[in-house]
Amino acid sequence: MIEDKNPQRTSISDLGEFGLIDHLTKNFSIKHKTTVKGIGDDAAVLDFKGKKTIVTTDLLVEGVHFDLSYMPLKHLGYKSVIVNLSDVYAMNAKATQITVSIAISNRFPLEALEELYAGIKLACDIYDVDLVGGDTTSSNKGLLITVTALGEANEEDIVYRNGAKPNDLLVVSGDLGGAYLGLQVLEREKQVFQVNPKNQPDLDQYTYIIERQLKPEARKDIPELLKKLEVKPTSMIDISDGLSSEIIHLCKQSNVGCNLHEDKIPLDPQVISTCEEFDISSSTVALSGGEDYELLFTISQDDYAKIKANPSLTVIGHMTDAKEGMHLITRANTKIAIQARGWNSFKGNQA
Ligand SMILES: [Mg+2]
Repeated sequence: MIEDKNPQRTSISDLGEFGLIDHLTKNFSIKHKTTVKGIGDDAAVLDFKGKKTIVTTDLLVEGVHFDLSYMPLKHLGYKSVIVNLSDVYAMNAKATQITVSIAISNRFPLEALEELYAGIKLACDIYDVDLVGGDTTSSNKGLLITVTALGEANEEDIVYRNGAKPNDLLVVSGDLGGAYLGLQVLEREKQVFQVNPKNQPDLDQYTYIIERQLKPEARKDIPELLKKLEVKPTSMIDISDGLSSEIIHLCKQSNVGCNLHEDKIPLDPQVISTCEEFDISSSTVALSGGEDYELLFTISQDDYAKIKANPSLTVIGHMTDAKEGMHLITRANTKIAIQARGWNSFKGNQA
């Protein structure tokens, strides 16, 4: 589906490992004072000057987490950074550095890696983070990417998953379900393309949801907004696996229950129309879809007035005593138990 606009192929073995790293990282500049030494020595040196350091890492595997038949390499580079930054923001912290390691087979020419790094650089520029290290090695088959993100926060600002209290409000940023539906559209078009390669897909009506899948954004703005509004969440998590499994994480780690209101779940009109086309429930997609990279958090009811007018934030429920359990209040006003049906890497092994 993705047409090769760059037919030039330079073998990466011509450069050697260090030549390759130099070549791929030569346009990256250092933006943060906390980066004392970036790429170019045995290790990076960082100095967070009394702040707490946040560290998170993710491994993305071709064929498991991404499909290069519809994922352009530039988007993949961008997304591999975003998924990590999202976890830093979910700690209510500021992301400052990343390392990127890749394992590649010889089917990738230098030009393909340049595309991947162009996406990584774009994310570094937009999200204001420094690339400070990494590794490249060979892989027998697919492409693997590991990104580690580092960030900083004052100790008193860090938000964990375990601080929610009964009666706290449950709040989510943005809207949900788009990334999963974007993937469904791309998978469908891939199958059409395999049957008839001349059939070029018309994806105009799915622009938003495809972008949510191929070029997601992380909510750097939400910790900044909350600081401005003088709201410190009592617990927070990012939505990588679907709303229901993330709610369960917050409830279990905070030892509370919750009531989630189906009619409050924020949905983009394109999510609603595509759900109608696929004949699936938009609530199911929001609850179980995953990869939305929005932030889910709880706040004290005392802070409600500070957030209620903000278009980026939606109150979708409230926390209860643990003994009341975790429930979805449906549009028909029935109460059903929330179950984790989120996407996960081992789904294929489950019954
Ligand atoms: Mg997370």
